[in-house]
Formats: sequence, structure tokens, C-alpha cells
Amino acid sequence: MTAAARSTRRDPRVAVIGAGMSGVLAAIELARAGYRDVAIYEKADRLGGTWRENTYPGIACDVPSHLYSYSFAPNPEWSHRFSPGAEIQAYFEDVARRFGVTERIRFGAEVVGCAFADGRWSLALADGARDAADVVIAATGVLHHPALPAIEGLASFAGACFHSARWDHAVPLAGRRVGVVGTGSSAIQIVSALVDRVGELALFQRTPQWIAPAENPPYEEAEKAAFRADPASLAAVRAAAERALTDGFANVLVDADSPVLQVIQDACTANLERSVRDPALREKLRPAYRATCKRLVISADFYDAIQRPNARLVTEPIERVEPAGVRTRDGRLHALDVLVLATGFRVDAFVRPMRVTGRGGVALDDVWKGGPFAYLAMCVPGFPNFFLLQGPNGPVGNFSLIDVAEREMGYVLQLLARIRAGACDEVSVTPAAMERFDAERRAAARRTIWATGCRSWYLDREGLPTAWPWSFDRFRSDTAAPRLDDFELRRRGER
Ligand code: NAP
Repeated sequence: MTAAARSTRRDPRVAVIGAGMSGVLAAIELARAGYRDVAIYEKADRLGGTWRENTYPGIACDVPSHLYSYSFAPNPEWSHRFSPGAEIQAYFEDVARRFGVTERIRFGAEVVGCAFADGRWSLALADGARDAADVVIAATGVLHHPALPAIEGLASFAGACFHSARWDHAVPLAGRRVGVVGTGSSAIQIVSALVDRVGELALFQRTPQWIAPAENPPYEEAEKAAFRADPASLAAVRAAAERALTDGFANVLVDADSPVLQVIQDACTANLERSVRDPALREKLRPAYRATCKRLVISADFYDAIQRPNARLVTEPIERVEPAGVRTRDGRLHALDVLVLATGFRVDAFVRPMRVTGRGGVALDDVWKGGPFAYLAMCVPGFPNFFLLQGPNGPVGNFSLIDVAEREMGYVLQLLARIRAGACDEVSVTPAAMERFDAERRAAARRTIWATGCRSWYLDREGLPTAWPWSFDRFRSDTAAPRLDDFELRRRGER
């Protein structure tokens, strides 16, 4: 008898797709809740998701490390307030190993299709293998699929050219002429880290960014020893960071009239005024939209970096790429050896390109043809027992996504408990609940700072922000326990 056939609703078989931060969490939480029949699929040969894929120079997380940690696995060893990416990757690998997840992951196993039929999910893998599960948890990431710019001639570039999330570490940089396209969080970190390593650096800026200064001090050995000796002090650091990020950032972004936004704006303006000496350069770096309309960039050293003698800010639009470099609209050729595309991600992909079909063979691609959506960022009507972690309309970009994933997983486990208790075999959000959520979400989105007139990855095709448009406190309360009236609980085979 196969594992799939053996499973009963008292011990539902769960498939977790993706072993990044959220997938590892799902595996740990399922095991703690006593789910024994869990398959974890990871298309790559290593866990870590974002932190496996993004290895660009200067990568760090701008959420304080003691908050960007699982609540059940505090880490007294973090080296900095904002620790570097390699350290974060090592943390996830360590936690996955310690909690017995790593050996259970099927690496190199890409799920390409999930179809719901006869009360179960059938999974198709890229190598032709199949599996079946009662429940699917799609932990497939958000900022995952690189967005490559549609710049004429890009393929003709004679030097090395790669996206920030596909860094080619074999390419030498010392003494070379490096171009960076983009001014998002990735580009700003890259420029700051590269400028002293390369011969010349050209930053191609389409839109300037507001930059919030934030020092990144290391933790001294004595501080780490104190954290080790007294876990309560570590918990206190985390709680303080959580409160500060909630009240000083996440909660205020959703109210464009919040006075705290003016405080952030003033801090960014003062940073620009005080840091950039040349008035012409200062004006080129001054955004014409409100701070935090785009995802705020945090950097203590970018303004220094862009003022180095070997750095050049190019604001003339890119006309095309040629074998020798980038040609801007003024006719100038910026000769380059290396071109880095820090041009962001296709944020509306979510579980795609995986093909997901729900009840009645309805394709998720069709349901989402106007743009992806999910009730509380987790559930889509017609897709029973299918849960997204970090799905559409979640509070991405403004809080610790680990905290977000933990809350989502806690919510999913409460729904699964209904199945395990025998109350139902299938749980799906009702179309009415989805509609109500989406109508309220759209109305609230218009009041957020993201809707105040800038281009960003928060916006959908109509220019409406897609991220969670309410306070983070509301996310906490909405995800604390499912409102069962919003769900349809069915027995297998019931119509
Ligand atoms: P991003 O914020 O989407 O930035 C992409 C940049 O590329 C923008 O400056 C954009 O210009 C530019 N661009 C795109 N297409 C272009 C084209 N055809 N020509 C010229 N410029 C073009 O991407 P990201 O920097 O990778 O960051 C994405 C998100 O990842 C962040 O907002 C953040 O949430 C997360 N992240 C976090 C950290 C961290 O420290 N926690 C670090 C890196 C990333 P426009 O502005 O004009 O559109």
C-alpha cells in the first residue's frame, strides 16, 4: 500500500511545496502538531529560498536579526543588528537540521502541477513522478522570479550580465567597469558593497529612492554571551524590535495621513541634505514622491558610495544595451565590463509556473487572470485544503516575514485540526468571504502610502496596491483564529 493510499483524514497527508523560510517553518510546525505524513518538495538542491538565491555583495536583511528569526529558535549568535545574507542562510540550514527537517526534504524535486480531484490533491513532478496528498501548503515564495528588463540589445552585451538574484561569483570585479541597473533595496546594497572593489561603477537610476539611515553595529562578544546566558534578555530585544517596527513602520504605512510618515520623510530628507555635498547630485537623488511610497530603502553608506570618485550616477534614460556597454538617450556610451540587473522580481507569479487546478478542474491561472488574490493571503475559493504561505495580499515588505509565516501557519493548523477531528475532509474559503475581503481590501488600499503616486512592485496592473492594506496589529488579530463562517467544511464526495 502506498503512503498516499494509507492516509486517513485523522492523519491527513500534507505536501509542503518549497523549503525556504516558510516551507521549513511549515515542516517544523506540522511535526510539532503531530502530523506524521508530510512530504516536503524543494526544486533546488539546497533549502533557503531567497537566502539561497540572493548572494549578491552586500546582501543583508534590513529587518533586525533578532526579529528576523523563528520565535522558537532565537539566535544569540547574530553578528549584527542587520546580519548578512550568508549568516541568515546558515541559520535556516542550522534550524532545519536541528529540527529534523533537512533529511526529510526531497531536493531536486520540482512540483509542476497540483490537481484536485475526488477529494484529494494529485501532484505532478518535473521528472514525471507523482504523489497524492489531502492538503497542500504552497510555500513557494514572493520575491522569487527575477524580472528582467525589456531593454533593447540586452542579449548583445559582450561582458558578463546577470540579475542580482543570480549573482555570478566567477566574474572578477577588481578594477573593472561595472554597471548596475535599478535603485531598489538590492541595488543600493550592491552599490555600497561594490564601489571600493571595482574600477568604475555606473548606477543607472530610473527613479531616485528615499534612503533611511540606519547604523548596523556588530554585537560584541559580551552581548552575545549575555544573550546566551539569559534568554529573557534576547526575548526583550526581539519584543522591542517587534513593537518599534509595528508602531513606527508597518502600522503607519497603511494610513497616508499618519504624522509618523512625516517623521520618516523628515529623517530621509535630512539624511539626503546632510550626506550629499554636490547640490546637482543631491537634486538627482531627491525623489519626487513621498517617502515609503516605494518600499523604503535602508542604508547607512549608499550616499557615501555614490559620491566616491569612481562612482557615477546616470539619470539619463537607457536607450539600449550594446556589446560595449549601455547607450543612454543623450547618445553617450557607458562602456562596461559587467552589467548587473538589480531590476526586481515578478511579484504576481506566486505559485506559478506550477499549474494548479481546483474543484471542477478550474485553473488557478484563470481564477487569477485579473491578478492574484487570496483571503487573508492564504486561501482561494474553489481550492480546498490548499494554503498559500506569503500568498497575495499579505503584509510583504514591511515586517518580519518570519513572523508573518508563523501566524499564517498557526491559522492553517487550526483549519487542519477540523479535518483531523473528523469535522470535515475539505475546507475552503467561501466565495462570499473572499468577495467581502477583497472589496474591503481594495477600499483600504486606496488610503495607503503606496497609493500616493509612485511606481512600485506593490501596485497591480490597475495601479492599486496589492499588499495587506491594514495595520500589522490587524493582521495579528485576523490570523489569530479562523472565522469558521467564512469557510465551507465538506465531507469527501459531498456536493
Ligand atoms: P525593486 O525594489 O523592484 O527595484 C527594481 C529597480 O529596478 C527599480 O529601481 C526599478 O526602477 C529598476 N528597473 C526595473 N526595470 C528597469 C528598466 N527597464 N530600466 C531601468 N530601471 C529598471 O527590486 P529589489 O531591489 O530587488 O527589491 C525588491 C524587494 O525585495 C524590496 O523592495 C524588498 O522588499 C526586498 N529586499 C529586501 C532587502 C532587505 O534588506 N530586507 C534587500 C533586497 C531586497 P523604478 O523604480 O523606476 O521602477
